[in-house]
Amino acid sequence: MDALDIYLSEAFERDGCPVCTLLRNFEEKTLTTLLYEHPNDPSLIEELKKGLGLCPYHSWKALELTSKNPLIDPLSIAVIYERMLDHYLRNWDNADGNRCMICTMSREKEETLIDAIADRMKELLNRYEESPAILCRKHFQMLLERTKKLDKKHAARLEAIQKLKGEKLQRLLKAFIEKSSYLHDEGPTEEEILSIRQTILLLKGEPLPINQESFLGAESRGRSPWKRRLSFRFQGKNSKG
Ligand SMILES: [Zn+2]
Ligand SMILES: [Zn+2]
Repeated sequence: MDALDIYLSEAFERDGCPVCTLLRNFEEKTLTTLLYEHPNDPSLIEELKKGLGLCPYHSWKALELTSKNPLIDPLSIAVIYERMLDHYLRNWDNADGNRCMICTMSREKEETLIDAIADRMKELLNRYEESPAILCRKHFQMLLERTKKLDKKHAARLEAIQKLKGEKLQRLLKAFIEKSSYLHDEGPTEEEILSIRQTILLLKGEPLPINQESFLGAESRGRSPWKRRLSFRFQGKNSKG
C-alpha cells in the first residue's frame, strides 16, 4: 500500500463524500500555502491579476483562514489585494474578474482524484460498502463513467452499493418525518436526524464552488416558475413589515 492508497482508503472510511472531503482539504491547504509562502511572489501576483484575485468564495475563505490559522498573517491578504486594487485602478475598463486559480486547481485535482479512485476501485468498493461514506451524485456519476471504461463488473457493483445507500437514507428520512409528528411518542434517532444532512450531501455534494458550476447559468436556459412565486412571497413578508 502506498501513501495514495492509504489517503484514499481513509477518505472512503469516513462520513461524507470522499471526493468532496478530499477537495475541501486540498482547497484549504492550497489557500494556506498561497497565503503563507507566496504573498510577494511576482509570478503569483501576475497570475492573480487575471481574475482580480480569487473568486468571491475563495477570497472570503482566505480572509476566514486568517482568523482560524495563526500561521497566516492578515498582512498576506492585504499585500495581495492591494496589488489587485492597484491593477484594477490602472485598468479600469479592461480589468477582468472572472478567473480563480484555486477553482482551476480544484477542477484539475477533481479529475486526478477520480482517475486514482477508478484505478483502485476493487479495493475501495470493499471499504465503501461497509462505511458511512456516501458519494455525492456528481462524483458518483464521474466515477461510474470512468469505472465503466476500466471494468464493467466494478461499475455494476458501485451502482448497486450507491443504490442501497440511497434507499437506506430514504428509510431513515421517512422515519424522521414520521417521528417528528406530534402524534408520535418516540423522537427520531440521531441517525434519522443526520439523514437530512446526508440526503442533501448525496444529491448536491458539499458547498464547494466546484459543485456549483453546473447550476450557474441554468436559469438562462429556461424561466423558472418558482422565481416569481418566491419573490412574491418574500415581497409579501416585507410589506407586512
Ligand atoms: Zn462529492
Ligand atoms: Zn475559486
